[in-house]
Amino acid sequence: MALSDRIADGSASERRRSRSGGASLPMVPIDSTRPTLSHPDMHRPPSDEAPDDASGAGLDVDPEGPRVAGRHRPSSLPTDVAEGPAPSTRVRVLIVDGDAAAARAATQVLRRMGGHRVTTFTDPEMALRYLDVTGADILLADHDVPGMRGSELVRQARRRIPGLPAILTAATPSVEMAVEAVRLRVDDLLIKPLVAAELLDKVADAVARAGSSGRERVLAVGAHPDDVEIGVGGTLLSHRASGDQVTILTLSGGARGGNKASRRREAEAAAAVIGARLLMEDLEDTHIRESDPTVAIIERVITEVRPTIIYTHSINDVHQDHRNTHSAAMVASRSLPYVLCFQSPSATIAFRPSRFVSIEHTLEGKLEAIRAFDSQASTREYLDEELLRATARYWARFGGGTAVEAFEVVRDRRRPSPTSLASSAPKVTHGDTRFVVSG
Ligand SMILES: [Zn+2]
Repeated sequence: MALSDRIADGSASERRRSRSGGASLPMVPIDSTRPTLSHPDMHRPPSDEAPDDASGAGLDVDPEGPRVAGRHRPSSLPTDVAEGPAPSTRVRVLIVDGDAAAARAATQVLRRMGGHRVTTFTDPEMALRYLDVTGADILLADHDVPGMRGSELVRQARRRIPGLPAILTAATPSVEMAVEAVRLRVDDLLIKPLVAAELLDKVADAVARAGSSGRERVLAVGAHPDDVEIGVGGTLLSHRASGDQVTILTLSGGARGGNKASRRREAEAAAAVIGARLLMEDLEDTHIRESDPTVAIIERVITEVRPTIIYTHSINDVHQDHRNTHSAAMVASRSLPYVLCFQSPSATIAFRPSRFVSIEHTLEGKLEAIRAFDSQASTREYLDEELLRATARYWARFGGGTAVEAFEVVRDRRRPSPTSLASSAPKVTHGDTRFVVSG
């Protein structure tokens, strides 16, 4: 059995046997023809990012390396229609190392033997910007990377993605570094030169630990700046309080509602209050379509974020952008198990929620996020705080506590948890969005 097969099996004991048997694998040879590891072109849209990524079309996958599904696909195709292994089975590894040769060697091991998707940077600042846009499942940070210590890089990466699994590497370990690693709760500390089997083991273990922690990956899709904050802002704050990853996708800059640049700044400020990653597209305000490019944009983000929950607009809404966003999101999220629709101020009387989440403890944070849209406040009555509070108060009739956000359930294919079945009475768990129950 090849090592890559054992890794694919996820058989830790098998892998351990291979190591204890003295078969410590050498690093695979480095292909000197491979392109440079840095990403000089961070301003490109996410669909073109990651030239080092093995899932990309015709990129730098070694000819003798394993076949990677989709590597010869035209890059315009949505990535989640790729044949072969589902994208979710591949781990997205972000390597940051000033030593390009070491990074290259680690990349080859993780790609060719682990089948992982690997992106590498020599510049930590660029790596953080990449993380903002694209995310990752695990960070492999060298402690001595120029410009930023590895521990600081881990700290800043986790500010963006809470709980991000992280492994520190170092050529010359020190006590100070070990103490820092413990304090940061990094998953592992590996001493260079790295051993292939150990690297694969540690990456697989760290990702498995994170996967078993029950954290959700949440995606909220809105047509305009402020839609998501108004509809689901309190619930997103609860997700963040639970350690979940939250991404906001805003499809339009909202140019009809004011200066585009200032609306973007406001959206960024609001996302910062929530602790969410913000992805902002530039579809034409009031002309968002229900087909492409909207569907393709949402599909691309779903492939990147791999959400476990999606929130988006309700179809019961008088605003055509909201309805079309809903329809496009339904197509793009067709394979996802859990889809909920929030209430916009333009929702119609047909909005009929069946899931109620208490935002009693996050209402003030929600209002703070919405206050970031202050350029709109004087002209938009729906941003009036009294109305926002009253709406949350009203829905508490059906949920719990004194403030609730209400959702239509489009799809819920998740298995009910034993705790939610224990009581037949409707229940809303404060500050915890995992086991919300229909009222
Ligand atoms: Zn809107």
